[in-house]
Amino acid sequence: MTAAAENDIVLSLFKDCDALLQGHFKLTSGKHSEWYFEKIRLIEKPAALEKIVDLLAAKIRREVPGFDTVVSPAYGAIAIGFQAALKLGKTFAFSQRADGKMTIRSGFSGLDGSRAVIVEDILTTGGSVQEVVDCLRERGVAVAGTYVLVDRSAGAVPIDGKPVGSLLSLKVEAFEPEACPLCAKGVPIAKPGASDKKA
Ligand SMILES: [Zn+2]
Repeated sequence: MTAAAENDIVLSLFKDCDALLQGHFKLTSGKHSEWYFEKIRLIEKPAALEKIVDLLAAKIRREVPGFDTVVSPAYGAIAIGFQAALKLGKTFAFSQRADGKMTIRSGFSGLDGSRAVIVEDILTTGGSVQEVVDCLRERGVAVAGTYVLVDRSAGAVPIDGKPVGSLLSLKVEAFEPEACPLCAKGVPIAKPGASDKKA
């Protein structure tokens, strides 16, 4: 399958489960956008998510020859990484913030000295994924790759100096309200708010 064909399939899967909305949205940054990702829809519809994770797991299988575990940051990506690990026959762990710092519970036993693939839902600035890389390194875990469902930077944000693998690469333009072409056309605006993570 070509990258463009894969992009189209994933785009329609996202639209089918209402995880990707097209319209006129006010983002938490105050900027306006034609697109909005409602990540919570992915978790709400496991059957739809599974079809997407199938494609992600196949991509990881093709591109990463040897690794032991999948690691995802809490909470939204846990369901995605867990399903990917199940399909790939790997172990799974998640990272979480404790007192503001990204950490992995010491209870995850098999990590030290292993090779991990990081799986995240949406890459925007890459800040939290880089923190996962850093906390894995502190545990002596080598990062074999980073994969996301959606790369909103369209390849502009490398993690750990390496490109991030994504199913859907979509540069989402955000406009200042006074420069917004949708406002200029008089399209009514919506302020979505189900996601607890700042866009
Ligand atoms: Zn606008």
